Parts: sequence; C-alpha cells; structure tokens
Amino acid sequence: MFHSNVGDLSVRVTLLGTGDTTGTPTVGCECDTCETARERDIERTRFSVHVENERTDESLLIDFSPDFRYQFLRESVSLPDAAIITHIHFDHLDGLGNVFRVFDSLDVYAADETDPKTGESVAETVANDYDYLNAVSVQPTTPLESTRICGFDVTLVPVDHPPLLCYGLAIEDPETGAKLSLSGDTSYAIPQASREVLAEPDLLLADAIVPAELCDAHPIGGRHEDDEGVARTFGTKHMTREGALALADDLDAERARLVHIAHFYPVTDAFAEPLALDGETYEL
Ligand SMILES: [Zn+2]
Ligand SMILES: [Zn+2]
Ligand SMILES: [Zn+2]
Repeated sequence: MFHSNVGDLSVRVTLLGTGDTTGTPTVGCECDTCETARERDIERTRFSVHVENERTDESLLIDFSPDFRYQFLRESVSLPDAAIITHIHFDHLDGLGNVFRVFDSLDVYAADETDPKTGESVAETVANDYDYLNAVSVQPTTPLESTRICGFDVTLVPVDHPPLLCYGLAIEDPETGAKLSLSGDTSYAIPQASREVLAEPDLLLADAIVPAELCDAHPIGGRHEDDEGVARTFGTKHMTREGALALADDLDAERARLVHIAHFYPVTDAFAEPLALDGETYEL
C-alpha cells in the first residue's frame, strides 16, 4: 500500500462512540461489565466516528449518535464539514437534531436506493423526518460509486442488516492512499461487491456486538458458522466478535478495531483487545 503521506498530514480517525444502542454502561444495569465501566470511568457511547482530513483541514462525521453533543465536548474534535448516515436506526440517526442552531449548513450524505421495507431510501427518510432542519442538505448518494467528500473518495457499500437497508463505507485519501473501512451494522453476509470495495484498509472498524458464545442466548441463535461451527453472525443483524475478526482477515485489514459493542460481553472480555473504547484515535 502507498504510504508516503504528504508531509505529516494524514487522516485522523477518532472513535466518538463504540457502543451498541444502549451503550456501556447501560442505564439502570448493574451487570459486572457496566459496574466495571463505571468504576474505571470508561464508556462506549452510541456509534459515531469522526474522520479528519489534515490535508484539506476538513472533517467528516459518520452517523449522528444520540450522544453527539457529549461526544464533541468530550473529544474536542472540530465540528464536521459534512456527514454520512449509514442507516435509519435510532443509534445512528437520532442525534441529527443536534445540528439545530449549531450549524449554518451541513451536507448529509445517505444512500439513494429505495428500501422495500420503508418504501423510501435512507436519504428520503432523513429528509422527511428532519424536514425542520434548514441547515441540512441531504445528498442522495448511489452505493458502490465513489463520491468526493471532504477531500476523500467515499463509497457507500450495501451490507446485511435486516430488515432495513444499511451501508458500510470505504473512505480513502486519493493523495496518500490511506484507507479506512467501516462494516456498518451488519451480519457476516456482506456481499462480494461490497467486500471488494472495503478490501485492504489501513484500519477496519467492524461491528461485533457480542462474542459468538452468546448466540445460545438469542431466540434464533447464530448463523454463518465457520469450519469449527463458530457463529459469525448473532441472530440476523450483527456480527459476533469472531465474525468481525474473520471479516478483518477476509479483507486483509492492516489493523482492525471492533465497535458497536454491547454490555453483554463478559467482564473478562469486555475491555480486552481488540475491542475499541470511546476516544481512541488513529492516524492513517
Ligand atoms: Zn450491563
Ligand atoms: Zn442498526
Ligand atoms: Zn446500531
């Protein structure tokens, strides 16, 4: 991979939110994992990633966490120049209201394919639900086609998160070749065309909601088992830890961090590598 950065200018990735929809600690939960997180003052807020292009001095936000305000105050990162929404679940979209009276204008990119489940594309749902936000200009974006955003080549890739359409992302600096890939919320069954776009990133952020052993606790169990019978998908919507690590392997990722982590990880595993925590930063 081509790595001669232009001067010291690079892609700076900040993990604003690494938790699932309830976060860790979860409100009202006294499990060992949540109690340990409180004691050690560490957390996983709802999912969001800040990607700064030091070359163009712009930044791109991936998903609007309901914890948007808190995350920006805590990490002191710059407000984004543009944003992308992967899908319309609460934990990825409902922070968009924070734009009100904070931004004068903001381009928000989202997929333009009609979701049979809702009869609308992600772009249309965002535009309809947040019609009152005059600052937001929704930019309907065609998956599997590269779009220049904040000086990056950005491609939305279809993933598998039933019943809704959802997208992963490849974000590449055309000057340096630095590449960040995100799985999005997804099962292990990411289509081949999407895998080709996500392949060979410097950093992969992969959805890993629980360890495979917890599939027994899911009403429909796990699926997409590997040769040893280990489930790479928990239920239908998310990868297991083992599935996320298999994906990192499949994609030949230079480095992988597991995100969208639930508090259901046993405390012995919950804060172990390579599970990400809020506030981690990476230079690509
Ligand atoms: Zn808990
Ligand atoms: Zn989701
Ligand atoms: Zn989610």
